[in-house]
Amino acid sequence: LLRQTQFEISAATLAQCPPEQGIEIAFAGRSNAGKSSALNTLVDHSGLARTSKTPGRTQLINFFRMNDQCKLVDLPGYGYAKVPEKVKKEWQEQMGEYLENRECLAGLFLVMDVRHPLKEFDVMMLDWSRHFEMPVHILLSKSDKLKRGPAKNTLFDVRKQVKPYGDKVSVQLFSSLDKTGVEDARQVLSNWFEF
Ligand code: GDP
Repeated sequence: LLRQTQFEISAATLAQCPPEQGIEIAFAGRSNAGKSSALNTLVDHSGLARTSKTPGRTQLINFFRMNDQCKLVDLPGYGYAKVPEKVKKEWQEQMGEYLENRECLAGLFLVMDVRHPLKEFDVMMLDWSRHFEMPVHILLSKSDKLKRGPAKNTLFDVRKQVKPYGDKVSVQLFSSLDKTGVEDARQVLSNWFEF
């Protein structure tokens, strides 16, 4: 089913989001964290979510559908230094509104570069998710960039740091390059989608 994923629509505002239907799982992350690559890898479709080396340009919410019941949502990347404060603020408001009001949102995939986990943005997303009782699955992306030992240490460290958020938060290593953790992540998606 994941492999059937197709682009549906881009929304610049919440009002433009497609009508609520079925279950949505959203992907969030700082710009350049590897979010688009992770999404593409999980649905096995290399060009689907645009991967780009000039981060922070699109501020659109992109919707991808598998069928009427199952959708993936690519939230705008966050945290690029060159984005003006005003744009960041608007982005924060949009994200807060989306997380708060989107009834069909079942959970969040939070993508963090394994070398730079739990930055301010990530903590903000975790705080919001806890507030709205939203499950969060953290992908520590680009795990191929670290040797096995340091990667495992980061995994344990991040698990320890998110423990206060309770059992709605889970963490795994992930690499779009060498496919570490791809099947585990797909399992989480299918559990949340209930297929
Ligand atoms: P996004 O801004 O979060 O959507 O990040 P992208 O998916 O566009 O990736 C940002 C950069 O990181 C690109 O140059 C990717 O090629 C690179 N990248 C993404 N995933 C991986 C990975 O698993 N391993 C490595 N080594 N590089 C990755």
